Amino acid sequence: MIDVSGKRVPVIATEEHYVIPEFVDASLSAARRAPNDLDGEDLAFFLGHPLGRPWLDPLSDLGEGRLRVMDEAGIDLAVLSLMSPGVQMQEGANALALARHVNDHLADTVRRHPTRFAGLAVFPPQDPAAAAKEVERAIRQLGLCGLVVNSHTHGEYLDDPKFWPIFEATEALDAPIYIHPRNPPNELRRYMSNSRGEKALAGGVWGFQFETSLHAVRLIVSGVFDRFPKLKIVLGHMGEGLPFWLYRLDDMYERGYRRHGKGAAKRLPSEYFADNFVITISGVHDHPLCHPTLSYCCSVIGTERVLFAADHPFSSAKAAAESLRTAPLAHEDIAKIAHENAERVFHLPSVAMQHAAPRDRAREEQAHT
Ligand code: MN
Repeated sequence: MIDVSGKRVPVIATEEHYVIPEFVDASLSAARRAPNDLDGEDLAFFLGHPLGRPWLDPLSDLGEGRLRVMDEAGIDLAVLSLMSPGVQMQEGANALALARHVNDHLADTVRRHPTRFAGLAVFPPQDPAAAAKEVERAIRQLGLCGLVVNSHTHGEYLDDPKFWPIFEATEALDAPIYIHPRNPPNELRRYMSNSRGEKALAGGVWGFQFETSLHAVRLIVSGVFDRFPKLKIVLGHMGEGLPFWLYRLDDMYERGYRRHGKGAAKRLPSEYFADNFVITISGVHDHPLCHPTLSYCCSVIGTERVLFAADHPFSSAKAAAESLRTAPLAHEDIAKIAHENAERVFHLPSVAMQHAAPRDRAREEQAHT
């Protein structure tokens, strides 16, 4: 819990990463098979290079060390997701086998610490039918609370109808899909480089938000949300910039497409963004511009659509929680961002209830029924 002007507010962090040895091995072999791949290079550094230890160690910790980091930050519950790009660099049946193993392992981790961890399942878009089945198994049988997909898969995006069995499954289960960044397809490598040939625009500098916002806009303009109106998408990093571009998307989509009877989507982009998307504040803290950015996003899409996330261990959990604690927002709005919105979106039990004394708990339970 964090202390917001004298009141204790529970905190759920929704984009918190981890790895397991089988993922590390599979990712390092994928990186070896694709030596010049943007993501392959990142994986080789974070998972296989001595300089990557400050990330590999906390990523690998699903026990005491991680709980300590959460306690120090005031985070009650972490929604865990496998490190990007998950199983999406894998080929063929490897992707499904790895996804199943990762999801089983994650469900075990959540069972060991049911009040501290929840989990997002991975799935292999490489095989849409098998992915849809795995989504159903992960939510129904394993009790995971949503899905994570790391943007493109071998250069393909989920607006392609061949992937829609996955949306059919997630919509039926009311399970949100977190579209997490990865680098753009390697064909764009030279455009992610500066004039000296250094890949200075890749990764979190610009490549991640470029790639992930592209994916989201592809879904929006393709009519995916007309076919699946209840589909829920989560975007990190303050919505990957999209809250800033909603007016422009609407204006250009209307004047450039819809007015001429073109464009696959029936409604305006901002209408889908309001109905089908929520955003998190992952990685946007510890900088003077973060509070104005948070206030802007809240004013454009509403505080009920903004969720807390740290992006551990790539961003400091403590700085993230402190940024929310000191945000220039009303107490009720901070509470929504801290935990209430996450409880609603991911169907999580009330964190406040777990902290309450037995008598308060009975009262809370009544209030929730
Ligand atoms: Mn992340």
